[in-house]
Amino acid sequence: MKKRSYPEIRDAVAKLCADFDGAYWRNLDTKRQYPTEFIKSLSSAGYLSILIPEEYGGSGQPLSAAAAVLEEIQFAGCNGSSCHAQMYIMGTLLRHGSEEQKRRYLPKVASGELRLQAFGVTEPSSGTDTTRIRTFAERDGENYIVNGSKVWISRTEHSDLMLLLVRTTPREECEKRTDGMSVLLVDLREAAANGLTIKPIRTMMNHSSTELFFDDLPVPVENLVGEEGKGFRYILDGMNAERILIAAECIGDARYFIDRASKYSSDREVFGNPIGKNQGVQFPIARAYVQMRAAEALVSEAIALFDSGEPCGSEANMAKMAASEASWFAGDTCIQTYGGYGFAEEYDIERKFRETRLYQVAPISTNLILSHVATHDLGMPKSF
Ligand SMILES: Cc1cc2nc3c(=O)[nH]c(=O)nc-3n(C[C@H](O)[C@H](O)[C@H](O)COP(=O)(O)OP(=O)(O)OC[C@H]3O[C@@H](n4cnc5c(N)ncnc54)[C@H](O)[C@@H]3O)c2cc1C
Repeated sequence: MKKRSYPEIRDAVAKLCADFDGAYWRNLDTKRQYPTEFIKSLSSAGYLSILIPEEYGGSGQPLSAAAAVLEEIQFAGCNGSSCHAQMYIMGTLLRHGSEEQKRRYLPKVASGELRLQAFGVTEPSSGTDTTRIRTFAERDGENYIVNGSKVWISRTEHSDLMLLLVRTTPREECEKRTDGMSVLLVDLREAAANGLTIKPIRTMMNHSSTELFFDDLPVPVENLVGEEGKGFRYILDGMNAERILIAAECIGDARYFIDRASKYSSDREVFGNPIGKNQGVQFPIARAYVQMRAAEALVSEAIALFDSGEPCGSEANMAKMAASEASWFAGDTCIQTYGGYGFAEEYDIERKFRETRLYQVAPISTNLILSHVATHDLGMPKSF
């Protein structure tokens, strides 16, 4: 078995997660409720502020430590999607926010007093083509007035702040289609009574996703992050951290499925033998392990580049794609290994299977990653 980095952090996270067993997650899953106690526990142990520099109250660890935390959460059968954004969203504020914004928000985010869990980019009519977003912020004195809508924005109902990508100049008036977008820090506690409507979307897994409608929502100009018109770049550079951390979660999921499948198949006897003695059962599990290890190597490469401040767009994309496919294959193999029991809720396999499927679509779909690799790494012509 592979030796993994940060053994102390991993052990501590595993102990914390042991208080949140399958029954806890199954109950929330059935009711589509948010894991408030789990988040409180992670927050007070300091894991959600692991990437916030010490001067703003966090522990200032590298991305590799955050990846270890999320991987272990998933391996323990828990669901980090309820909080992973809290780790990486703040990166946009940290890199591009003013000193005043950082001092005002980051210490409170680090202590858990403020939750920065929501990241509003996707819109119904733009889909993956972010440059076509229509949510518009018009300057009016000391405020921007925001109108438009967003879809699939996770955790909005469980967050105090949201980073919101808006257009501040119409696409047609920009030299480059990526110009003219800006990032606003929206205080959701005030927005709810002031022009923001939040509508939950029920999905196949428990993910707290919502649709947002902005109707003349005022956002103070002082909440603009960085420079007006440069928001697309700010969002893009936060996306590498997001993809890498989600890839680490997929590695945790793959390990969960492989661990369950190898143990179950070694115990379960049919025709007088453990089913895992049959190579038809054994080989897919071994294949899932090989795929997980290969993906893990890509994740490690992406993390090492990120932590040394080097460009890692392609590696972050490839890591996310390989890891999401490895976790999906491992999940499918696990269900097959469990036979009928794989479909029973009490075994948790079907829940984890539903949860891990998302990562081939969000935060970026496999096709768009392949397109990036083809055009950036292989120099092939762009289709869009
Ligand atoms: C549960 C959930 C949570 C989410 N959370 C958030 C969030 O918190 N914040 C946020 O901003 N967004 C969030 N998203 C949105 C997510 O990032 C998008 O769903 C994802 O990027 C895909 O966009 P889309 O759904 O509009 O698909 P589309 O862009 O409509 O694409 C649909 C399909 O077509 C393919 N496709 C599109 N264009 C091309 C092309 N040129 N070549 C080849 N294939 C193509 C895609 O790969 C995809 O498979 C979430 C989504 C889900 C489902």
